[in-house]
Formats: sequence, C-alpha cells, structure tokens
Amino acid sequence: MRQHALAATLLTLSTSTLANTIEDTVASGLNKPAIYYADIEPYLKSAAKHPSVTLKQIGTSFQGQALNSLKIGNGPIKVMMWSQMHGDENTATAALMDFLSFITADENAKWLTSWQQKITLLIIPMVNPDGAAMQTRHNAQGIDLNRDAKALRTKEGQILMAVANEFKPDFGFNLHDQNAYYGAGKMGKQATISVLAPAYNEAREVNKSRGEAMQFIAHLAKSVETMIPGHLGKYNDSYSYRSFGDTFSEKGIRTILIESGAYPNDPNRQIARKVNRVLYKKAIDSITSGEWITAKITQYHAIPFNAKDNWVDLLIDDVTVKSELGNYQIDIAVNNKGQSPIIKELGDISSIRQGYTSLDASSLSFKAGKGFVLNKSLTLTKSNYKELLKQGYSCFSGDIGTLENSSKWPVYACKSVFTSIPSLHAPAAFLLQANGINKYAVLGTELINLE
Ligand SMILES: [Zn+2]
Repeated sequence: MRQHALAATLLTLSTSTLANTIEDTVASGLNKPAIYYADIEPYLKSAAKHPSVTLKQIGTSFQGQALNSLKIGNGPIKVMMWSQMHGDENTATAALMDFLSFITADENAKWLTSWQQKITLLIIPMVNPDGAAMQTRHNAQGIDLNRDAKALRTKEGQILMAVANEFKPDFGFNLHDQNAYYGAGKMGKQATISVLAPAYNEAREVNKSRGEAMQFIAHLAKSVETMIPGHLGKYNDSYSYRSFGDTFSEKGIRTILIESGAYPNDPNRQIARKVNRVLYKKAIDSITSGEWITAKITQYHAIPFNAKDNWVDLLIDDVTVKSELGNYQIDIAVNNKGQSPIIKELGDISSIRQGYTSLDASSLSFKAGKGFVLNKSLTLTKSNYKELLKQGYSCFSGDIGTLENSSKWPVYACKSVFTSIPSLHAPAAFLLQANGINKYAVLGTELINLE
C-alpha cells in the first residue's frame, strides 16, 4: 500500500516537470484550499535529488514539524524567499513548489546554469507548519510569527531570523496571502497581488536599500499588469515595529512583500499562484541581468493603494424594507466569514463597495422567509429547495437533524435567522419580492434566481 502510494507520488511529480514555461509549470495536487507540510515534503525531497539543490532541515516548529531551506546556486548575490508564516496563507507555498519544479526540470538546465554562479537562492517554504496543520494565522502557541521579529519568542521566528542573520540576503521575498476583500484602488478590481517595500522606521524614510526594493517592485509590477491588468495593489507603508519585513528592511535587506489575493471564480487562488511563480523567475532573471535597476521609484508610487473591504461577497443594492415602523431603502452586504456567511453591513454600501455577486434590487422588497416545519425526513435537492423558496420558506424548524442536504446551498434553522427586517451580523436567509411574488432567495452568499 505504501509502495503504491509512493509510486503514484513519483508519477505525479514527474508529470509536473513536463511543462517548459514557468507559466505552465504546475506542481500537481496543490490546487486546494489548504496546504499542509505533508503536501510539500515530496516536492522538497524530489528537488533535493537535483545536484544544484541542497535541502537542509533548519529546525522544528513548536509541535516538532520540520522547517526546511533549499539552497540553489552559489553566486555572490543572496536572494531569500519564505512563505506561509501565517499558517492559513497557502498560495505562495504552492507557487514555490511550482518554481522548484521549474528550477529542477531537465529542460531548464541551461537557464539554471545562466544564474547559479551569480545568485545564491535560499527558499524557506512554510515557516509555520503547525499553523498550516490547523489552518490558522497563528502558530500552535497562538502567536503571530510576523509580530515576533523583535522579541523572538517563537521557535519558528527564531529560526527565520537566525537563517537571515547567517545568510545575509541582498533581497528578501516575504510571501503572504491577503483577504479576498481588498480592491486595487478605491472601487478598483480585486487586489489579486499586492506589494510593499516595508518601512524601516516610523518616519517611513527611503534609504538606498528601501528605494531599491521599490524599484524592484516597480520592475515586477509590469508583469503583474500584463497578466492581470488592474488587479495589482500596494499596501500603505505604516511602520510595523514587530514585523519581519520591516525588521529585515531595517537591516538593509531589499525587502519585497508579495501578498496573494482573490480573483473572481478562483477559490483556490490559482491566478495569484501563477503570477507568483512568474514573478519568482522574473526576480531571478532580472537580478542576473541587473535590468531591474532601470525601474523608477515613481512607478512604485503609481501603483494604486489597497482599499480595505472594497469588495464583499454579495451585495444587494437599494432593496425596500417594509416595516410596521415605516418603509426604508437599504443595501445589504453578505460576507463569507469562515464557514458561516453573515450580514456584514446594512445601509449605503454600493457607493464605496462592490460585490463579487451583486443585484440591483431597486424594484424589489425584502421578505423574511417562513419556517418549514420538518415532521418527516426530507432530502433537499436544488429543485425541491428552489420550490420551497418560491413558496416563501427560507428556514427550517422541527427536527432539523432529519434533513439531508444535497443542494449545496446552505440550510438555516429558523431560530438563527428569523427577523422581520434585515439584521446586522445575522446569517442571511431571506427572499426578495416584486408585487408579492418571490423573485430571488438569498442563502448566505448565494443569490438564487427563482424565476
Ligand atoms: Zn500573512
């Protein structure tokens, strides 16, 4: 059984190296929401077989999982890339596995030769394997590793700092994920990639190394704009004393923060993953050629700032609420918070936010659903659920344990959702009517057309 699993792993690893371009080099099995240490270990071991790659265990996490580095090349310019300091930020780790597959592919040997005497690349994938296991931002001690650069109370933080102090990178790539709701500029597209050259002091001064980090980012930004126009944002540079990026910037390392974000209909962030691996290769190529130095700091400043909460999952615009206390018109925003979508905001929303899904409800009115009483077992399919919604049922009461749901739409117990007017921070399960007829149902972030 183990033998069989190993053979299957080797087979999938080999197929991933068939592609020739960085765009098309995809390490298989990583297109999923969560990436754990066990997912990357085969790729690390596979890469280590290459004569130019040195895999080293650099320590263990609080719970005893391995932290590793992979060293490629032995040139004088030192480049360090590290990912997943926050355990639930998976995208760059997948992209680093793609990049390792690209680096070690036989057909790219000439490319590797072109830089390995000029650059030493040190990759530390998944700095927080315990957080990855739990899919939490923090490590197993509940500490945010990226606020531990000064006190160094975590093993993982100590390891990252020790490696950086020994390796002394000229360039540091700090690889993270951001939430799905940032816009690239106010009312811009989703921020699929966001960047920052972190400040090294409260005054946010620009010295030589920080200025060069800005130039480097401006150089990389051109590729992002070509691949996903309008989806590039920039973080504001308020100084974060305890963070690694800011601390490395203080040390004179040209530090480049890349945050992966969402793109429409891309739940596992495969678009951001692709842009990341393209940027990693471009970084190596342009450090080799020195080409990045021609980019201008002004181009960095021209990247639009990330706009927080510019996007929501579902935006119902201008719906009329009829109430005994008077009728009123509002927008309703629903966001998916973990597993349970809730009404994030009520009021004027559409003037400053956009919805991944949105509806002009100016001719519709809000209608709280009725409760469907379960007195015998019921299997919900899309078609019979839709029929119930049409009849005005949006929640269930009685023995909800007898309900089988194969519709893929969420199911709500009436006691958790029933309000006659939309209720802030409550789960969303209601109807939208025109002339007393149910036209749409909202179940969580799902907008269901009942026509
Ligand atoms: Zn992060």
